[in-house]
Amino acid sequence: MELLTSLAALGGFVIGLIVMLAIRRQTEQAEEPEPVDDALPPGVASVLAVLPSSAVVLDREDRVLRASSAARAFGLVRGDALMAAELLALARKVRRDGEIRESEIEVAGRKFGQETTTFAVRVAPLGSHGQVLVLAEDQTERRRVEAVRRDFVANVSHELKTPVGALSLLAETIQDAADDPEAVTRFAGRMQHEAARLNYLVQDLITLSRIQGADEVPAPGPVPVDEAVHEAIDRCNTKAASKDITLVAGGTEGLNIWGDEELLVTALRNLIDNAVAYSPEHTRVVVSARPAGDSVEVSVSDQGIGIPDGALERIFERFFRVDTARSRATGGTGLGLAIVKHVAVAHGGEVTVWSKEGSGSTFTLRLPAFGGKAIAVPRTTTPLEAST
Ligand code: ADP
Repeated sequence: MELLTSLAALGGFVIGLIVMLAIRRQTEQAEEPEPVDDALPPGVASVLAVLPSSAVVLDREDRVLRASSAARAFGLVRGDALMAAELLALARKVRRDGEIRESEIEVAGRKFGQETTTFAVRVAPLGSHGQVLVLAEDQTERRRVEAVRRDFVANVSHELKTPVGALSLLAETIQDAADDPEAVTRFAGRMQHEAARLNYLVQDLITLSRIQGADEVPAPGPVPVDEAVHEAIDRCNTKAASKDITLVAGGTEGLNIWGDEELLVTALRNLIDNAVAYSPEHTRVVVSARPAGDSVEVSVSDQGIGIPDGALERIFERFFRVDTARSRATGGTGLGLAIVKHVAVAHGGEVTVWSKEGSGSTFTLRLPAFGGKAIAVPRTTTPLEAST
């Protein structure tokens, strides 16, 4: 009995002890401050939410506390781990000495067809609990634009070198032939030809840089398509006449686009110019307009040499030519179609091409109709015989 009483007393004591310990533990837990690592300094979360770049916050154990969706989409973060070893090493250095660091890193690419993605990163200490902020900016687009610009500058220099070199040579030759008036006249003629080429190139470069600078037409208005077509044809008449090529305006009369008349004339002039340059003598070039829903289509068709299939998708690139010698011989700058494309894009439209080698080509400009709908007024075809 005594034993029973003692056991009961011991049991009571043990239970009491357990209850006490449990209560103490609970109180301790309630009083224990939140783990510092998990708390972001005030305001940081809202700043991260509006940042366009990939942002990651690491705790003092290198675990990801917060990551923007861009950081996950780019594969910089998976689960709670920072995936780029280089970036992790940088974050550790920053945590150690508190210095902000900047660098460029390459991460295995997640976008289709892209092997690596280059990021400009900035790593900084955050708060006083060993947290580190990592900001990463995708540099792919900036690099692409830089490469295009570099290429363009290299191409322009190359294109300028040829006529400038020729002019300098011709000037020397004229000097040497000072007492031969016939030779002087001949070389002076060639100088004029080279100077004209230089002039076309500079003009086209100015036009291209002006349209490229604007994402859209600066001051759009209603533009009567017939007037633009006739003006473009007028400007190409001399060249067409020299090859006995007939320029014909046709299609639907009375259409208006919403845009810029000078730009439309420039685009059409380039297309007609090409049609004439790449067509044999005694052929026809037809410029034709038609309504197409909320757009107007203006096409330029020729019966010329056509464009090989393999070159079709490249012809709108700056300085791309199917046959460089032929383009040069016809006074081409290699910029005409790039200009046409940019005129179309600035109008919110497009330019397409159909071509068959040996049969001819049709370039079609699709531009927004004035008033949102192309209004068709039938018109009869008017041949405009090329005349000088
Ligand atoms: P270019 O000044 O050399 O004519 P473009 O940019 O106007 O430069 O045209 C690019 C290339 O596309 C030309 O060099 C030519 O090879 C081809 N091309 C353009 N238009 C035509 C056309 N109507 N017929 C055949 N080839 C054309």
